Amino acid sequence: MFQAVSKSFFTSLAASTTLKDLASKYGMRGPRSFARRFIAGETIDEAIAAARAVESAGMAQTLDLLGESVATMSEADTATRNYLAVVDRIVQAGIGRNISLKLTQLGLTIDRATCVDNLRRILDEAAAHEFFVRIDMENSPFTQVTIDVFETMWQQGYRNVGVVLQSCLPRSMRDVKRMNELGARVRIVKGAYKEPRAVAYQEKEQVDAAFVEITKLLLSSGTYPAIATHDPAMIAAARAHGAQHGITPDRFEFQMLYGIRRDLQAQLVAEGFRMRVYIPFGREWFPYFMRRLGERPANVGFVVRGIVNER
Ligand SMILES: Cc1cc2nc3c(=O)[nH]c(=O)nc-3n(C[C@H](O)[C@H](O)[C@H](O)COP(=O)(O)OP(=O)(O)OC[C@H]3O[C@@H](n4cnc5c(N)ncnc54)[C@H](O)[C@@H]3O)c2cc1C
Repeated sequence: MFQAVSKSFFTSLAASTTLKDLASKYGMRGPRSFARRFIAGETIDEAIAAARAVESAGMAQTLDLLGESVATMSEADTATRNYLAVVDRIVQAGIGRNISLKLTQLGLTIDRATCVDNLRRILDEAAAHEFFVRIDMENSPFTQVTIDVFETMWQQGYRNVGVVLQSCLPRSMRDVKRMNELGARVRIVKGAYKEPRAVAYQEKEQVDAAFVEITKLLLSSGTYPAIATHDPAMIAAARAHGAQHGITPDRFEFQMLYGIRRDLQAQLVAEGFRMRVYIPFGREWFPYFMRRLGERPANVGFVVRGIVNER
């Protein structure tokens, strides 16, 4: 309940241009500015440096060039070109080849066909360099269309692509079975958006119970699933199911967000599990940043201290 209120509060704050201006001014200004806790930086060079640090700690990474809900075709085209440039820079840098992206960044809200074309451009380039591309899942108005676009690419023979399912949506129980049938790679998350009662569980206990159920299905009959959570109870449930059914740690990976529960990331690696860190970067970091605050209001204190110290 508290989490739902917190999510909607931060969603409404995310629309504030004053707050965005203030955050943009201070959040990334110096090497220790507050937004850097969760975002690697505004440039690809900063993201590559963060990726190198993650890899040298024995973990894998996925880079996410931040951006969502672009309003024009030309912005969608720019985002696509920027992603192609990111692919190129990752190849040059010699770091792990894995990226995450959002369909609304590629023009989904403007024209679906153009979005599919943009995605295809990225998947082709990515396939040529043996990348894996994860399509992030956005809020519920985009669930079906995101899955449809994913399946279109899958039917066209693309295999270097995977989806994300959110345990807060009851429909995900169906979707996971479909993805397992296809043999598609799924990242399971709880869901970062404030969703209406008509489509989503409202209680944390329900979201958690569904997360565990979906995780079990993925571990037992999925294809190299990603269990993306910082919640020790979810991780314990995944580990217990794996141990009980002889599913070895090379058949799945845990994923966590950059800057969150770094202690747990290191601990899981030390215990022999695979860990991939999701590294967001880019100038459009404000909505992502606000979602992280909404998940854990204690982060606000940390941000306020950062702003006060910056002035
Ligand atoms: C790799 C990765 C990719 C993701 N991709 C998507 C996606 O495509 N679509 C989508 O909707 N969501 C995505 N998410 C976000 C996800 O849906 C959740 O909102 C987020 O992971 C928080 O849920 P949790 O499972 O960590 O559990 P929670 O119950 O929210 O948190 C468990 C514990 O984790 C820690 N924690 C969680 N969040 C924070 C935070 N912001 N700051 C500090 N500590 C925190 C706290 O210790 C907390 O007690 C992704 C998450 C990860 C890890």
